[in-house]
Amino acid sequence: MELQLPVYLDNSATTPTDPRVVAAMLPYFTTHFGNAASRNHSFGWAAEEGVDYAREQIAQLINAQSEKEIIFTSGATESINLAIKGVADMYARKGNHIITTRTEHKAILDTCKSLEKKGCQITYLEVDGEGMINLDDLAAALSPKTILVSVMAVNNEIGVMQPIVEIARMAHEYGALFMTDATQAVGKVPVDVQAMNIDLMAFTAHKMYGPKGVGALYVRRKNPRVKVTAQTDGGGHERGMRSGTLNVPGIVGFGKAAELCRLEMAEDATRIGKLRDKLENALTKLDETYVNGNRQHRTPYISNISFKYVEGEGLMMGFNKNIAVSSGSACTSASLEPSYVLKALGLDDELAHSSIRFSLGRFTTEEQVDFAIAEVTKAVNKMRDMSPLWEMHLEGIDLKTIEWAAH
Ligand SMILES: *Cc1c(COP(=O)(O)O)cnc(C)c1O
Repeated sequence: MELQLPVYLDNSATTPTDPRVVAAMLPYFTTHFGNAASRNHSFGWAAEEGVDYAREQIAQLINAQSEKEIIFTSGATESINLAIKGVADMYARKGNHIITTRTEHKAILDTCKSLEKKGCQITYLEVDGEGMINLDDLAAALSPKTILVSVMAVNNEIGVMQPIVEIARMAHEYGALFMTDATQAVGKVPVDVQAMNIDLMAFTAHKMYGPKGVGALYVRRKNPRVKVTAQTDGGGHERGMRSGTLNVPGIVGFGKAAELCRLEMAEDATRIGKLRDKLENALTKLDETYVNGNRQHRTPYISNISFKYVEGEGLMMGFNKNIAVSSGSACTSASLEPSYVLKALGLDDELAHSSIRFSLGRFTTEEQVDFAIAEVTKAVNKMRDMSPLWEMHLEGIDLKTIEWAAH
């Protein structure tokens, strides 16, 4: 089969919807179009049945004790807002202190920032050069006023996995709840909310081969019974925690995606891990090329690589018609900012700008990886050939000692 271009290696941003998921959703747009909250006729019952089944599939994937612990939302961002703001409201009498990390997704960081303005105290744990938090820092930050510790399971830029079992245990010692943004973990690596003692967990369908615009918040119902204050008022859907007519086709697709992940995750992870390693081993054969993030505690799906002396955006221009990836720069309104995650690891702006995130998924093939290796290698070599900095490096000139003329 001929290789289709461009090759998609940006599965951390979103995954394609599995065709089996689309097939499961289709009847819920037409035949079973009812409102799951309509109790008086078969249209409503059919929709509700679809939602109930999806809830069970999702509960099973994460080993929730009851399907009632799954609250449907519009995505991980909303789940995170509901969880953090909902806990801050509900547990205000116990305290106002929340602990999280520097390398969380913006959904977490911006929600915390908004709570800071309302008087909450937020501790942002630093990470080491490999993206891992230090558990001693967590121990030092915890206090009886801590109501919530929120640490992501898998980082979306570098794939690093934090020791969440240990973190949950420490949080519980102080009577704080433990929450995790598991958006890059659920459906890709094993997540067991009971074994891991997770109290709240946000995740989303579109990062696990389901549709966009539907997510979930796991809210533990026993030991302890966790409560969050609703952030959207309305008809009292989702046990009063999230009002609004349910996205029935989306939820049915989310459920099907969860079922497929439960059945295929182990095989997918093994196969994709091998492809990721192949990509990484080939690209790090290039000089002055570094893998970002801890390589032991990492998901098999992501590789974040810095190509020193090469500007990431330029590199992407070199191949971006053929390969879809993300760079270590984030477009803000004013400028191209270096990634705050890579900065938190201690990379300087230049190296952060030289970084590319490759993220693989269920539909990534070996042929695509081979193509990417050839294309990236060619582009890096070409850019370095044109770079005066690279030439200086080859001549052994330490660029840090050079005094640049003022301009
Ligand atoms: C994609 C992502 C989110 C946001 O999920 P949405 O469903 O798009 O709102 C949050 N956290 C992480 C780690 C993500 O990768």
